[in-house]
Amino acid sequence: MLKDIKGVGPKTLTLLNKLGIYSVEDLIDYFPFRYNTIAPTNLEEGEVVISGVIETMPVATYIKRNLNKLSFRIETSEQLVNVTIFNRAFMKNNLKRGMTVTILGEYDEKRNTITATNILFKEIDDTYIEPVYHVTSGITSKLIGTLIKNAFETNPVIIDYIPEYLVEKYDYPNKESATRAIHNPYDLDAIEHSIERCKYEELFRFMFKINYLKSCRTEVDGLHRDVEEEKVDVFLESLPFSLTADQMSSIRDIVHDLKSPKRMNRLLLGDVGSGKTIVAVAGIFYNALSGYQSALLVPTEILATQHYFNITELFKGLGLRVELLKGKTTKKERSAILEDLANGEIDLLIGTHAVLEDDVIFKNLGLVITDEQHRFGVNQRSTFQNKGKLSDVLYMSATPIPRTYALTIYGDMDISIIKTKPKGRKEVKTELVKTKDIKSILSKMLDEIKLGHEVYVVCPLIEPDEETTIMDATTLFEKLNKAFCGKVPIGLLHGRMKPDEKEKAMLDFKEGNTRVLVSTTVIEVGVDVPNATMMVIFNAERFGLASMHQLRGRIGRNALESTCILVSDKSAERLKVLCESSDGFYISEEDFKMRGEGDLFGVRQSGDMVFKMANLKTDIKLLTTANVDSGEFIKNEKENDFEEYPEYAKLIEELSHLD
Ligand code: ADP
Ligand code: MG
Repeated sequence: MLKDIKGVGPKTLTLLNKLGIYSVEDLIDYFPFRYNTIAPTNLEEGEVVISGVIETMPVATYIKRNLNKLSFRIETSEQLVNVTIFNRAFMKNNLKRGMTVTILGEYDEKRNTITATNILFKEIDDTYIEPVYHVTSGITSKLIGTLIKNAFETNPVIIDYIPEYLVEKYDYPNKESATRAIHNPYDLDAIEHSIERCKYEELFRFMFKINYLKSCRTEVDGLHRDVEEEKVDVFLESLPFSLTADQMSSIRDIVHDLKSPKRMNRLLLGDVGSGKTIVAVAGIFYNALSGYQSALLVPTEILATQHYFNITELFKGLGLRVELLKGKTTKKERSAILEDLANGEIDLLIGTHAVLEDDVIFKNLGLVITDEQHRFGVNQRSTFQNKGKLSDVLYMSATPIPRTYALTIYGDMDISIIKTKPKGRKEVKTELVKTKDIKSILSKMLDEIKLGHEVYVVCPLIEPDEETTIMDATTLFEKLNKAFCGKVPIGLLHGRMKPDEKEKAMLDFKEGNTRVLVSTTVIEVGVDVPNATMMVIFNAERFGLASMHQLRGRIGRNALESTCILVSDKSAERLKVLCESSDGFYISEEDFKMRGEGDLFGVRQSGDMVFKMANLKTDIKLLTTANVDSGEFIKNEKENDFEEYPEYAKLIEELSHLD
């Protein structure tokens, strides 16, 4: 257990959790994001890095349980020095007289002793490599390094997931020596091979899940529907706009899947604003005509509410019943909905995870749709599939990812892509402005409001933080009220508000009761208020380009001219990309090039494609290899139920696909 590791008290435990570390395994897998090189120093009071020859046999002293000391003397180019190191008694037999070692530690001149933090079995003439870890306030990279060392001392069980024959094929070190080398590096070449090994393992595990899901697909038969397809066309013709070619072909793909007895497992990919919702609605419509119920799952309640209102409107007069299930739905309302659901009186149920709970029982669930799929994880995919034993499943995602990646990473699904946005959309004009020009920003906002339009104002923080001058929503809300002399109704929306407060803020804005919405990134996901034509993003330098692209996707949702104003006083190279392009994929590429890391493809630190070590962009070759290898592995071992690979039985259990 993590808390049993030396140095991990309750406070450190909380901090580790904050970094996503919950188990010893997580800690050992917490890899440095770069390495520092350290040069040797002279022997002076304080921190030193110094090489020398071991002069005396090391002596181990056992002070008490969990505390021992190893002492010896080395001769440096200058003098004889005592060295002590705690809790490394196990190194005694590796340290021989005459051996050259490098000691890192703290030199106490009076005692002529270095208290070492590390011993390297070699001389360093110019530099030593030190791992650098991502940290959070309250914990240092050094401390993480120490905790990892302590973790190794507890002899943790390190499961090696790469099948033996592949380890041999690629001449990889075993997992334990690889992770040890990564955290306690000797030379960069060795690190590289070890890192590759760990990335490969991670990708192999990931692709194993995908390919396993894929291998199960053909074995499951789904529902069969034979209602005429033309009825969908009639419904689509009643819409106030005509669909794009890509929307039409996606709908055709879906209806085709619904008709076919093979179970649908399809991903609908399309950039923000490409119009995925109506495609899903067409599927829901066809499913309902065929006598089946649908479930629409979304990551936030704001989005659930929005879909509820939009779809109810679209289905008006068609005799279809749509219901919304939320965290705050009262017990009474909830049980009424559940009863009608079980009776088959509800055609579409919309909600967050609440829809997946065990007591939510459909009469005949035929179609499960998840919106913003990239916010959910791979393991959840099977949960969606399991909600209705035979249900068809559609995933929707705005992840701007090239087709080749998509085909691999979503290899267990069929894919429909919406490439072009609806016609008549004007590009959102994006400009960079400095804070000192706030007057002109305010007057532009006022111009939009006078035209009857609405304005989003986004900033990075919720409340003021004394240590920074970064704009927060609470302060901004007050400042804008003052600036507009209370004459413009302004709303406030952020993640710390209660669900019903959030919903009210969103609804007020949508209905035009408030004309300006001051918000954090909670509006990033899927929110649709077509009448909003301006967005002002404060401290734009604090956001990833891909996030801002998603944010900006909230405006420019009709034929009106829309403007996005990026307010930033920092160097603007990165932000210029947004001014120049509205292509989600190009933007995330550029963001990646400039930052080298970050929210790759706009994917947040949760959900589908979070890798601890691998990087989908630079490790595409490794991904391809892992894909092929895991596919073959499954082909060979599935019929034996992975008998010789118990750790894979566990992964399959996590997917719980077939239960
Ligand atoms: P997203 O793909 O980001 O989920 P939405 O489905 O929310 O996009 O659609 C964005 C907006 O575009 C909505 O207001 C929707 O009504 C509108 N829309 C969708 N398809 C078309 C179309 N073919 N022509 C015009 N407007 C459309
Ligand atoms: Mg959407």
